[in-house]
Amino acid sequence: MLRNLGLETIGDLLFHLPLRYQDRSHVTALADLVDGQDALVRARVEVADVRYAGRRQLRVVISDPPRGLLLRFFHFNAGQQAAFAPGRWVQAFGSVRFGTSGPEMVHPEYRVADDAAAFQISDALTPIYPLTAGIAQPRLRRLIEAALKLAASDVHLAAQLPGLPSPDSLPALRALHAPAGASETALLIEGRHPAQQRLIREELLAHQLCMRLLRRQVRTRPAPQLADLQRSADALEAVLPFRFTQAQRRVIAEIGSDLAARRPMLRLVQGDVGSGKTVVAASAMLAAARAGYQSALMAPTELLAEQHYANLSLWFAPLEVEVEYLAGKMKKAERERRLARVSSGVAPLVVGTHAVFQQSVAFDRLALVVVDEQHRFGVQQRLALRDKGPQGSSPHQLIMSATPIPRTLAQTLYADLDVSVIDELPPGRTPVATVVVNNSKRDEVLARIAEACRAGRQVYWVCTLIEESDELDAQAAEATAERLRADLADLRVGLVHGRLKSEEKDAQMRDFKDGSTQLLVATTVIEVGVDVPNASIMVIENAERLGLAQLHQLRGRVGRGATASQCVLMYQMPLSESARSRLETMRSTTDGFKIAQADLELRGPGEILGRRQTGVVGLKIAEPVRDSALIPPLQQLADEWLERYPLDAQRLIARWVGDVEKYGQV
Ligand code: ADP
Ligand code: MG
Repeated sequence: MLRNLGLETIGDLLFHLPLRYQDRSHVTALADLVDGQDALVRARVEVADVRYAGRRQLRVVISDPPRGLLLRFFHFNAGQQAAFAPGRWVQAFGSVRFGTSGPEMVHPEYRVADDAAAFQISDALTPIYPLTAGIAQPRLRRLIEAALKLAASDVHLAAQLPGLPSPDSLPALRALHAPAGASETALLIEGRHPAQQRLIREELLAHQLCMRLLRRQVRTRPAPQLADLQRSADALEAVLPFRFTQAQRRVIAEIGSDLAARRPMLRLVQGDVGSGKTVVAASAMLAAARAGYQSALMAPTELLAEQHYANLSLWFAPLEVEVEYLAGKMKKAERERRLARVSSGVAPLVVGTHAVFQQSVAFDRLALVVVDEQHRFGVQQRLALRDKGPQGSSPHQLIMSATPIPRTLAQTLYADLDVSVIDELPPGRTPVATVVVNNSKRDEVLARIAEACRAGRQVYWVCTLIEESDELDAQAAEATAERLRADLADLRVGLVHGRLKSEEKDAQMRDFKDGSTQLLVATTVIEVGVDVPNASIMVIENAERLGLAQLHQLRGRVGRGATASQCVLMYQMPLSESARSRLETMRSTTDGFKIAQADLELRGPGEILGRRQTGVVGLKIAEPVRDSALIPPLQQLADEWLERYPLDAQRLIARWVGDVEKYGQV
């Protein structure tokens, strides 16, 4: 079970740091509970019973008349249930939520007693650790306590580390795992405690050291030299129906100087949805082809791979460069024929999904790999490409991402990559106008939509659901579609959700694309890859449930054609503070970078990249935004360490990151 948390050694336990702290030093009266806050409460059991409300659950109401608090348990046994006899005392600690029937706690930590005098209160802060199924906080706390005792005799932990402030590692760890009294609360919560500051620096330094070593490793082999990208870019531009933007030109120049060098390019191109990353990559692929080499373009989904194949074939036909497509599903003979063209070097340019390339595709003269829309393409994958070039050379790597990653995060996450930004959209696009509307105005929204559809426009209607089950999501989407069909009887309404077979999904998409349906009800499955230029309105129901990144991706589905587009974000009251600011952010800007920055501030980096709570590439204590000012001096320190203290560097990496080769496999 511990291994699920990445905990295999005593050292791992030591560096499994608290996510946050709880202050259980005082009891909060039921009348003073605040929505969203943790509280320690004490009251008598009024009633306890088991009910089915969606799920089987034990519901215990404790009360301090006239106030009550509902405790809900989804996992419980008969003994637990029996303990909650009416009149007995309960002391519970948990996060308070105001539900429809008043305040409640779900699965609080609790004790039951006949007399309130039996309860104890601790004045120390309680650390809260990241957990895995099967291990609860108290057990983890005891294990970490034991690890701290053993750590006292570890020589490496006791060693002084050059260039880092005190306290030393071990006292710093002690201060975080077993904080002194509640007087340290504020410092700890804000991350300003000297022990945190020390460990944050250690972790960021380890991270920088690791990235530097990996970058060196990727670059141990030379790369094929591809001179004069500009000439290829000009040739491509000559056959395109548009001119490059200034931003595209600048990025092409940056890539050009990388390709002309003898060492492999490691470059990330960032640009918002629609900024035109594909043609930039295409210029580089053309340069490779003209120099007699091969290049590969990897896309995350079959749909995107197909789109790329169609575009590239069109662009390259007049330039007489052939494009090969490796589809996921192909007849064996066809597949082998195409693979043979790749391995013999006849195919200069190959497009497919990441999955296709992961199965062994052999190249003859691979000089360039373009990776589209894949932030999971980590250091490990970059390393794996190292010797795929001709005669053990290393191909150039170009990674394209529309997930706008703020600079502060990029310098941590992609410290081994050079970064180019396409910060300009092609001319002629009108930004999507966004309005935020209460669910109670649904009828007005429907009237507007009906009008727009009669005028020939098309609409996405996105259902956002909170259930974690595909099946319930699908049912709810079906119900929404039914209701809309009833409300808008003269419109043709389509429906896509995650439970549809892929042929059915494709058919629905095709109907929408060719205008057979005017309104498409969809779950968030339409987030990626869908391109219907005539769809110019998007309605998102219960938009307050979605994160900013997801809202931005969804909204990117409209605003692709000539018509001015609208996005309607419907919400249900009551709104939490953060939901309110998310909606306001969406209303006030369409700039992906601003949205990403706001997202980072509201939610923290772990969630931005859809990773677990442990954060970006497993950062345990550092937070790229909050700690961004610390990074530049640590980059210098990292260079100095690699020069003068390579052994310390190895140890620090092992301490914070683990195995370098495993790094980036998050
Ligand atoms: P993304 O950066 O999201 O991958 P694409 O490369 O798919 O964007 O480009 C979006 C659309 O804009 C495509 O249809 C592409 O042909 C078009 N496009 C790219 N560059 C320009 C430009 N400079 N002027 C006009 N249209 C462009
Ligand atoms: Mg793209």
